[in-house]
Amino acid sequence: MKKMGLSSLDPAGRKVLMRVDFNVPLDKDRNITDDTRILAALPSIKYVLEGGGSVVVMSHLGRPEGRIDPALSLRPVADRLSELLAFPVKFATDTVGADARAKGESLLPGELLLLENLRFNGGETENDSGFSAALAGAGDTYVNDAFGAAHRAHASTVGVTKLFETCRAGFLMEKELIFLGSLLDGPANPFVAILGGAKVGSKVNVILSLLGKVDTLLLGGGMIFTFFKAAGLNIGSSLLDESSLAVASEIMTQAKESSTQIILPEDCVVATDFNDKAERKNCLVTDIPDDWMGLDIGPKTVARYRDYIKPSRTIFWNGPMGVFELPNFAVGTRAVGEAIAVATGDGATSIVGGGDCVAAINQMGLADQMSHISTGGGASLELLAGMKLAGVESLSDV
Ligand code: AMP
Repeated sequence: MKKMGLSSLDPAGRKVLMRVDFNVPLDKDRNITDDTRILAALPSIKYVLEGGGSVVVMSHLGRPEGRIDPALSLRPVADRLSELLAFPVKFATDTVGADARAKGESLLPGELLLLENLRFNGGETENDSGFSAALAGAGDTYVNDAFGAAHRAHASTVGVTKLFETCRAGFLMEKELIFLGSLLDGPANPFVAILGGAKVGSKVNVILSLLGKVDTLLLGGGMIFTFFKAAGLNIGSSLLDESSLAVASEIMTQAKESSTQIILPEDCVVATDFNDKAERKNCLVTDIPDDWMGLDIGPKTVARYRDYIKPSRTIFWNGPMGVFELPNFAVGTRAVGEAIAVATGDGATSIVGGGDCVAAINQMGLADQMSHISTGGGASLELLAGMKLAGVESLSDV
């Protein structure tokens, strides 16, 4: 994975086309609720601007599916970027149209132009060659700093790279590859992976690929109920992914043959409804009453997971342990986050990925106690599953 990095570029007089990941969460009034991803892109942007170059920055936001959706405009990001850089950045109201071309052509050294949401054009996700060529015309060299989109073969991550002699990894991309690469390349043991969240389907490959690689795999979140159902337990009205029942059984069968121990919760917090005020109680996972739903891991499980996390030397965490957005069901996620923070303080390397997990640790004030917070949930899972990331493969080798 040795790719050419941004530090090998002398930016003076260059116009850099830079793919970043500004796919930030917005509230209903289009205020940015978490600017972690914007902050993470600043080192690469500043390197070019302070080195005497200009930058044309491009990103997607949400899933507008090829249509212009004003609710998903990147304009709020341009405003936030202007505040953070302390000068007004330019914003193009299109990606490859007349406004982007005019503003791009008149861009001076030290200036930044942000293009409108790439996914307003269907050519982005289709990796269309015409759209790629139009994007490529906006710069004279290319940098990809969008780790969060590196697993997608889109026009801005793969198509454009065919049109530049040299394509470099930005500083964030390099940092992500170094940290996540260390998980694949001789991690210190004990190595504990903690996976939670709602979607079993998106985590199946990584769970299978981690068998034999990690010492212990701790599972939590809504996805555990599919495992319990597959094992024949009553799960009440808990979240169930019917289509993943067979693979959940297969995972548990394969785990028996591997050196990895998969640990499932022994107790959980159940509620009568998916809401913070609903009646709730702790119960063993073998005793979930009909019509009650599991919304967090229980206290016995928290204590057990803490015991596994404490002595570990390498920790990977993706996915909350419960519905952490509701305070009454955030206890398990907080306890796991705190245990990871303690282990990190004792010298473990901890890597946290996935938008929800990152939001949870930000909300809990634990972010600065982790070794690395990955900006790419899906990309980090694919990398860990041993898959090649299209957006990384297409960068120039050292
Ligand atoms: P994912 O995108 O798969 O990582 O899922 C994250 C989401 O899982 C968060 O919004 C959590 O609220 C949700 N979640 C966690 N635990 C549960 C649960 N027991 N039941 C339903 N949803 C859950």
